[in-house]
Amino acid sequence: MKLYNSLTKKIEQLQPINPPKVTMYTCGPTVYDYAHIGNFRTYILSDILQRSLTFLGYQVKAVMNITDVGHLVSDADEGEDKLEKGARREHKTAWEIAAKYTEIFKADAQKLNIQLPEILCKATDYINEQIELIKTLEQKGYTYKTSDGLYFNTSKFANYAQLAQLDAAGLKEGARVAKNPEKKQLTDFALWKFSPSPPAGGKSRDMEWDSPWGKGFPGWHVECSAMAMKHLGDTLDIHVGGVDLKPVHHTNEIAQSEAATGKPFVKYWVHGEFILADGKKMSKSKANFYNLADIEVKGFKPLSLRYLYLNAHYRTHANFTWPALMAAEKAYKKLLDYMAGLAKSRSALTQEHLNKIDGFSQQFRDLIADDLKMPEALALVWQVVKSNIPNQDKRDLLLDCDQVLGLNLAAGLMSEKAVVPSEVRQLVDERETARQQKDWFKSDQLRRKITQLGWQVEDTSAGPKLKANS
Ligand code: AMP
Ligand code: ZN
Repeated sequence: MKLYNSLTKKIEQLQPINPPKVTMYTCGPTVYDYAHIGNFRTYILSDILQRSLTFLGYQVKAVMNITDVGHLVSDADEGEDKLEKGARREHKTAWEIAAKYTEIFKADAQKLNIQLPEILCKATDYINEQIELIKTLEQKGYTYKTSDGLYFNTSKFANYAQLAQLDAAGLKEGARVAKNPEKKQLTDFALWKFSPSPPAGGKSRDMEWDSPWGKGFPGWHVECSAMAMKHLGDTLDIHVGGVDLKPVHHTNEIAQSEAATGKPFVKYWVHGEFILADGKKMSKSKANFYNLADIEVKGFKPLSLRYLYLNAHYRTHANFTWPALMAAEKAYKKLLDYMAGLAKSRSALTQEHLNKIDGFSQQFRDLIADDLKMPEALALVWQVVKSNIPNQDKRDLLLDCDQVLGLNLAAGLMSEKAVVPSEVRQLVDERETARQQKDWFKSDQLRRKITQLGWQVEDTSAGPKLKANS
């Protein structure tokens, strides 16, 4: 498999440390609110990558974190913890907020057919590991204390940005502008933050722990290094996240991990481009975002969004618009309908068919192995649909591809269209027309015919539904 590595800015052949095993870590959600559909583009990328590696024969060990503490409103280690802010907004504790939005995240991911990594770990379950990592950094002389926390001294880590080779320009602007006068360098970042002094008789935070440096909580970046190395070892094969994480979060992950272990942290960095809305990054702060629920409420299938995302390469910007989603849903439904029409009987396979099947299979593997060329893989699926290979083999081939696409094409096989005989479907359509014309006599007559053929029709707000006579 070949992947674009943000570290070297090149497409490289994947050479895992212990083939056929591949270790993979994805930065997961901060569970203070709903994840928006922009976030889900990144999680779908991680899912497609994991599915592709498995499809190509690798044994994947994947980890995703759940950030339930320490992610501050500003990436420059300033402002309130997002979880504590969410707690105030909803008059709940930070623990309750984390539990609530973790469940919603999992449910949304399931609707999008995202196979979440087997290891889904919460930052608050790994406080000891984070403290241990910080202690190592302290012993090695990489830290200093200020009035609000313990910081990583980036000047002690030779070639902080150069080593990371991650967008050096990004380091000088944006998130780093807010200045903390006690920081020695603009790029230094908090490893441990102290809880602010509590109000009389109360406490300043829901989440806080004792540490060798004082009561407080871990900085956001340290959780990913601690949990990734705990589960996957000092050097990981692949690390995934959105492009916005490159200049700060991932650069800091590299610095603190490599400072602690003296070994490379990650071999291949895979970054997904943004989903834009109205030409701008879809984000909570710009209030130009949609949640999965916004899509469902308009009657769209969540998997139509997945189809839409598959249609753009992960390293290109994709613009979210309702007409684009509508077009994706139309194509997706057509594909499901097509599955429904695939007969179950096997007709004779000729050598020509066999060659075609092998050719399609090989092309599909080549496309996903070439830095996840999903738009081309989807186009190939339509070529399979239009080909003359026998239905059963076509069906098997499409289901095979779906192990990577994750469009739940098997649902098409079980749809009403697939199991109801065409004669019955035609009668149902005629009856619908009669009903629209308020021809109740004809409609009743057609119902009886349908019943005689072994089916019951029920009129629902979503249209007629069929059930086999019991
Ligand atoms: P956050 O919850 O803000 O930490 O973001 C979770 C993940 O979603 C990170 O990997 C981000 O890089 C990614 N992300 C945020 N906004 C977008 C977007 N508009 N398009 C794609 N990915 C995004
Ligand atoms: Zn992370």
